[in-house]
Amino acid sequence: MHKTKTVIIGGLKTGGGAPVRVQSMTNTKTVDVKKTAEQIKRLEKAGCELVRCSVPDHESVLALKQIKKKINIPLVADIHFDYKLAIEAMENGADKIRINPGNIGSEEKVIAVINAAKKHKTVIRIGVNSGSLQKNVKYSLKNKSNNADANIMVASLMEHIETFEKHDFNNIVVSLKASDVMTTVEAYKLFSKERDYPLHIGITEAGTEISGMIKSAEGLGILLYEGLGDTMRVSLTAEPELEIYAAYRMLSNLGIRKYGVEIISCPTCARTEINVIKLAKDVEKMTMYIPKPLKVAVMGCSVNGPGEAAHADIGVSGGKKVGIITVKGKIIKRVPKKDLLKEFNKELMKFIK
Ligand code: SF4
Repeated sequence: MHKTKTVIIGGLKTGGGAPVRVQSMTNTKTVDVKKTAEQIKRLEKAGCELVRCSVPDHESVLALKQIKKKINIPLVADIHFDYKLAIEAMENGADKIRINPGNIGSEEKVIAVINAAKKHKTVIRIGVNSGSLQKNVKYSLKNKSNNADANIMVASLMEHIETFEKHDFNNIVVSLKASDVMTTVEAYKLFSKERDYPLHIGITEAGTEISGMIKSAEGLGILLYEGLGDTMRVSLTAEPELEIYAAYRMLSNLGIRKYGVEIISCPTCARTEINVIKLAKDVEKMTMYIPKPLKVAVMGCSVNGPGEAAHADIGVSGGKKVGIITVKGKIIKRVPKKDLLKEFNKELMKFIK
């Protein structure tokens, strides 16, 4: 476990051994206060612990102030290029800002941002992405990876870090995201040898619901297994609630946090008497945002189903004429197939209570 410093983001303890925090980003126009706040409320319900909004202009900064009043989780302002927007975002209540100092401009501008962060006790995430690296990085790394891109990313980040440290600022979280899995992994591993600032981990532009989850699970899985990561985002071209679901599944599967429902479902075979693919999808949809840690089994047949689901808290299996509902491996109900999902939902709710 890589021990990091603790930072407090709007009251949320991050790093220093705190649980790995799950975050997402809104995809609404930030100026649309109603839609953005509604989306954040849905994210909160799904388990999101901090949320980032893009702040591309002055109107978005003003919206940020309104959004902040309507939500209950820390708010992160995503700033590119304009240091004045970074300062305004902090003045308007952002708990954390995310900048890439490389596109903020001169050191004077970065110092102005640092001074505002000191004044408002705002955390700054210094985010270096492989796609927007500055040229002429002078920093020389003591340790090096075989991955040249990872070396450049970390050297670039270290150059920024030195500026922040020179001005006595260490209320910092860092990120080193690439869309290539191994570059990302190597960059975080390398940086962790240099400094102990909390790490926000993610694979940038990971992809769609399926491909993005695979890439993120690979990259973040390796990092988390290595003890690296204090906050995480599973970046998907999909609705952001899904990012939260995916993050908790990864953390739960690795035994890092226990949160939400794990679906155990059979691959189906010639023995099945029901449409297992549909049933499993329906059960997944039904249980997706239940925070309680549970194992739920969906099996295709009553020959092997209940036995294979014995380790689940609650299960549902198909059968010839009836479906079977099990609790802790014991059959509690046989129901007509057409009522299976409805009856399963009832039993699930009872079980949760
Ligand atoms: S539970 Fe039944 S249907 Fe599913 S894979 Fe096993 S034998 Fe086949």
